[in-house]
Formats: sequence, C-alpha cells, structure tokens
Amino acid sequence: MSNMGGYDYLIIGNSAGAVGCIEGLRSVDKSGTMALVSEEECRVYSRALIPYYLGGHIARDRLYYRPLDFYDRAHVGVFNGHRAVKIDTAVRMVKLDDGNSMSYGKLLIAAGGKPFYPPIPGLDKKNVYSFHSMSDVQGIEKELPGVRSAVVLGGGVIGLMAAEVLHGKGIRVHVLELADRLLAPVVDETTSQLVENALRETGVDLYLNNTIGQIHGGERVESITLKDGRTIPCDLLIVGVGVAPRVELAEHAGIQVNRGIVVDKKMQTSVPGIFACGDCASTYNFLTDAVQNMPLWPNAYLGGRVAGYNMAGAEREYTLGTQMNAMHFFDVNIVSAGINVTEANQNDSLDIIKNYDAEKKVYRKFVFSKEGTITGFILVGQIDRAGIFLNLMRRKVDVRGFRKEMFKNSFGYADLPETLRWQLLQDDVILGVV
Ligand SMILES: Cc1cc2nc3c(=O)[nH]c(=O)nc-3n(C[C@H](O)[C@H](O)[C@H](O)COP(=O)(O)OP(=O)(O)OC[C@H]3O[C@@H](n4cnc5c(N)ncnc54)[C@H](O)[C@@H]3O)c2cc1C
Repeated sequence: MSNMGGYDYLIIGNSAGAVGCIEGLRSVDKSGTMALVSEEECRVYSRALIPYYLGGHIARDRLYYRPLDFYDRAHVGVFNGHRAVKIDTAVRMVKLDDGNSMSYGKLLIAAGGKPFYPPIPGLDKKNVYSFHSMSDVQGIEKELPGVRSAVVLGGGVIGLMAAEVLHGKGIRVHVLELADRLLAPVVDETTSQLVENALRETGVDLYLNNTIGQIHGGERVESITLKDGRTIPCDLLIVGVGVAPRVELAEHAGIQVNRGIVVDKKMQTSVPGIFACGDCASTYNFLTDAVQNMPLWPNAYLGGRVAGYNMAGAEREYTLGTQMNAMHFFDVNIVSAGINVTEANQNDSLDIIKNYDAEKKVYRKFVFSKEGTITGFILVGQIDRAGIFLNLMRRKVDVRGFRKEMFKNSFGYADLPETLRWQLLQDDVILGVV
C-alpha cells in the first residue's frame, strides 16, 4: 500500500458541499495543505442544471459549477476517479479503492446521495438510467435519437424533471408512481392535483398507484408490464424513485448516523475533526429544531462553507437550513418551503390558511404557528414573492398584523410595517438579492 500524502484538510466528494468548504476554508486559512478525492472523473458540475442542459435550455459549459482553474487557484490537490473506501479515525487515514491511502488533519465527508433502485429484475439493462450524474447525462444523450417511448419510474421531483425533458423532445412519456399522487413528499394534495392536471393536459401518460411488474427484453429493455397487467413499449427507462444518503463510510468508521451523517451546527460529526455536509448529512433544521436530511443544493453549499470555516478554526454555525423546493413542471411554477402540511400530518397546533384562484391557477397556502410565525408555505402559479416569505419565516416574524395582505397578488415589501420592511430589505442587500 502506497501513501498518497498527508494533508491538513481532506474532502471526500467534489460537488456543492466540497466547493462551499474550499471557499469557506480558504477565506480563513490560505496556506494549509488541502486535497479532495472524487469518484467521478469529471470537473465539478451542477446537478440541478442537468434537466436544463438535457432539455436544450443551456449549453454544456453552463453545467460546470466553477472555472477550470478553480482548484489550482485555491491550492487544492484533486484526485478524480478515486473512491474512498475506508476512514480510519484512529490514525486519521482514508483508504482508496486502488489500495492507496491519504492522511488528514481534518476531514470533510461531502459524499452526497446515491439513486435508489428498487429490487425489480431487469433494472441493470443497458437503456436504464438514473437522472443524477454526468454519466447519466452522457448515456441519456446517446440514447435520445432512438427513443420513441420512455418510461419514468417515480413521480417525484427528479422523475417529473426527467419526464418534462423527454416530453420536450417529442418522446411519448409514461410516468409510473406507486403513491396515489405526484410529488407526495414535498407538496400537499392540492398542489399534486394541479401538477397532475398539467401533466395530463400536456399528453404525458400517468399511472398512479402503479409500478413495474416485469421488464422485458434482452440486453436492453424493450417493454414493461405494469402491476395492473398493461404493457408499455419502452426504449428508455429512467429510475427516479429517490436518493439515499451515502453514509456507509461514516457508519463503518463508527460515526453517528441516523438517516444521514449526524452533524452539529458547526457541521462536525460525532468524531472530532471529521465534518460532513450536504445530501449525505443530517443537518440542523431551524423550523423543527432537529437534525434532518435536507438534500438541496444551497444546504450542501452553505453547510460545506460553514464546515470549512470551522475546519480552519473560525467558529461559525449553520442555523438557517430548512426544506425549500423551487420547481416548475409543464408550466406550473411551485415553491414549497418549511413544514409541508398535508391532510395526513395536519394538527391542531398549526393554523392553516389557503386560497385557490382557479381562473388564474394561483394557489397559496400558509402554515402558521400559535405565535403567528410562518412555519411553512406553498405557492403555485405566482411564486415571485417566495423570497419575502422565506425571509419572514427565517426571522420568525409574527405576521398576524398583515396576514391578509400576504394573499394579495400584489403583496410586497410595501405591505410590511416600516421598521420590519427596512430590516428585511437590509438583509436582502447583504445577501445580494436587491
Ligand atoms: C436532476 C437534479 C436536479 C436537482 N435540482 C435541484 C434544485 O433545483 N434545487 C436544489 O436545491 N437542489 C437540486 N438538486 C439536489 C442537489 O443537486 C443536491 O442537493 C446537491 O448536489 C448535493 O450536493 P453534495 O455536495 O451534498 O453531493 P453530490 O452532489 O451528491 O456529490 C457528491 C459527490 O461525492 C462523490 N462521492 C461519493 N462517495 C464518494 C467516495 N466514497 N469517494 C469519492 N467520492 C465520492 C460522488 O460521486 C459525487 O460526485 C437536484 C438534483 C438532481 C439530481
């Protein structure tokens, strides 16, 4: 076993969390030695832009998250195409899949998530992809010219993004969803219905309460039979049923894990000197006051940034993370943030006000605590005020004095009491929003 060197700081992964860490860390410590090890061969890119690239809305260059010379300028050694397979916390060493190892002073695990494949025989065939990585992008791009009928397994955020891209290419798209509604974990029943209507109007075939019974074909999927017995021709199968946090390295190293790797507000794990962030971690949610897996790009970047500060010795906390999804499917714009209250989890301690304007297709729902603060909201159709609501939610402002105004189409800063308005605008200036 040869040793690939020792570093003051080592990062596992090369995506939003890793970049946040590098930028935070280098703003404090300009000279400590630093390296990252990444399983993917390619340059850092934005997963969130995959649908825009495949849909033809942006050029390939826009997929890349930082310029080519980013790591050189930050003095970070990059070991692409290597997988970390073991962390030995006693000797502060990370072992790689080729037998080499690297030692560290402080370590960040930013390993993200892995697409989940249900145990259906045939999902290993050649024209089956997830919708998650650069290798998926390359594979799907090659398939596209020959695809007339595609099956998307999963009616969640990723599945619907894939469906929209494929439909935009003139492909007949079939979306299969095991639950009785679309987007069930992230939005309420009304929003699901609006998206379902849009999908059906656009001509996407939707199969709720359904999944794959059997996959047919040789090396490639040729058709699938649904649980209800119907058969669908299939030139391309996209699996989009969920992403599992990659916790295996941490688990084997004896680091505390629940659904994700548990971190404190400084992003440090249960083992001092080892930090984690992003999709692989369970981080502090300011609305629930608990650690949760919140697989979102800003949470990964900001969590990584805070980890970077702390790794370099500057104490910072990440206390503003929560669930927030901004989505658009088939011309339906949606922002869902905070605690998503559905019929199933509604309770008396929450006050819920909703309003649907069928003509304008505008839906607003707010969830308020007993103290009058916003704990969650869903906006459909008109989403441009989401930033203000998010700000009010983060600052835990008692909104009872102007709750009615929040339902106006024209709601804006002018509707807020003057002192509050200036406080929020000042925040926005600091954040670069206005
Ligand atoms: C199609 C799509 C659209 C999305 N859209 C949005 C959106 O609109 N808004 C939003 O907020 N979020 C969106 N997301 C989610 C967002 O991309 C993730 O939250 C974000 O990428 C998480 O970043 P991360 O740094 O935690 O890990 P990841 O981006 O998952 O990257 C982790 C990296 O670590 C590598 N790795 C893992 N294990 C090892 C190991 N043992 N050794 C070496 N390397 C390893 C992986 O190969 C990977 O390159 C989207 C995701 C997808 C797939």
